[in-house]
Amino acid sequence: MTQEYALDTILAQAGNRTDPRTGAVSTPIFLSTAYGHHGIGESTGFDYTRTKNPTRVVLEETMAKLDGGDAAFAFASGMAAIQVLMTLFKAPDEWIVSSDVYGGTYRLLDFCHKNTHGVKPVYVNTADVSAIESVITPNTKAIFVETPSNPLMEECDVKAIAKLAKKHNLLLIVDNTFLTPMLYRPMDDGADVTIYSGTKYIAGHNDVLAGLIVAKGQELCERLFYIQNGAGAVLSPFDSWLTIRGLKTLSLRMKRHQQSAQQIAEFLRQQPQITDVLYSNKGGMLSFRLQDENWVNPFLKAMKLITFAESLGGTESFITYPATQTHMDIPEAERIARGVCNRLLRFSVGLEDVEDIKQDLVQALALCDK
Ligand SMILES: *Cc1c(COP(=O)(O)O)cnc(C)c1O
Repeated sequence: MTQEYALDTILAQAGNRTDPRTGAVSTPIFLSTAYGHHGIGESTGFDYTRTKNPTRVVLEETMAKLDGGDAAFAFASGMAAIQVLMTLFKAPDEWIVSSDVYGGTYRLLDFCHKNTHGVKPVYVNTADVSAIESVITPNTKAIFVETPSNPLMEECDVKAIAKLAKKHNLLLIVDNTFLTPMLYRPMDDGADVTIYSGTKYIAGHNDVLAGLIVAKGQELCERLFYIQNGAGAVLSPFDSWLTIRGLKTLSLRMKRHQQSAQQIAEFLRQQPQITDVLYSNKGGMLSFRLQDENWVNPFLKAMKLITFAESLGGTESFITYPATQTHMDIPEAERIARGVCNRLLRFSVGLEDVEDIKQDLVQALALCDK
């Protein structure tokens, strides 16, 4: 397939025509770890599965096209992908990081900085470009942002941050897990690297753990390939196939997630038990605060359709409690200072009928102040 096709076409066709011998439409799952050679220096292009696997390559090439990058790399989890990016740096290098960042990213950066001479994270509100500029030092090497941020759903101006990054020769990394290339392509605005928890919308069915890096620039891509092969936290062939299968409907799913989230945000804003709704008006993720911290548990217990669970981006609606789930490793005072208070709930709006979702919220809200 050539690059000229629209993204929807690339998705619908992902993996087709990759096996000319059989004509398989769904790309085969190549479990073989080793690939035979005809002679010295005569590789088929595949040698050993950690280095390169035909099923994983289909996923990686599809992701590179979707994001407009030069290459993509698939890993066993989103965190494994982030760790690989961190491996490119060492103390005293610094990363400027969105203060409202995924809890697991915070935990890994914090641990590696303190224990393994890893890069030093410097947290700022990346929605404020001048705040970013004010913390740049000669050691700053990269800027890592999430947009919208998790769980407060604040957007940042990637274009302006990219300009700043260019000016100071910094790598701009965007965790685009929440929007996916269907709703936003950070590289179009100047990002050098995008990362994804493929576990979420990309695979989309709450049945595979996966991570992806898409990158621009030959030198960077070569280094990422070197570490992917060298360390080997690669995505398995079966999980690569599941992720390709999920990708095929990504465009449809994102439209529906977004449409329903817009309706749910509107609906939640009218409920007296809710003090505020945080939604960037893009994508399927939103957060809201109940009036009273003591209502959180009864509310979660009362839900019959929506599942109280820690993840997002699947077909099923999930509500997460960041205070005890995604963000519990952030010290409480710091977490609350960042706005992730004990009344905050995060909502991954699923693909169910939107009226059924609203009904479940109505009955759970009615019970929570009893
Ligand atoms: C889940 C998540 C991650 C981590 O990905 P895993 O696949 O769970 O390792 C990173 N960033 C964001 C925004 C996430 O939601």
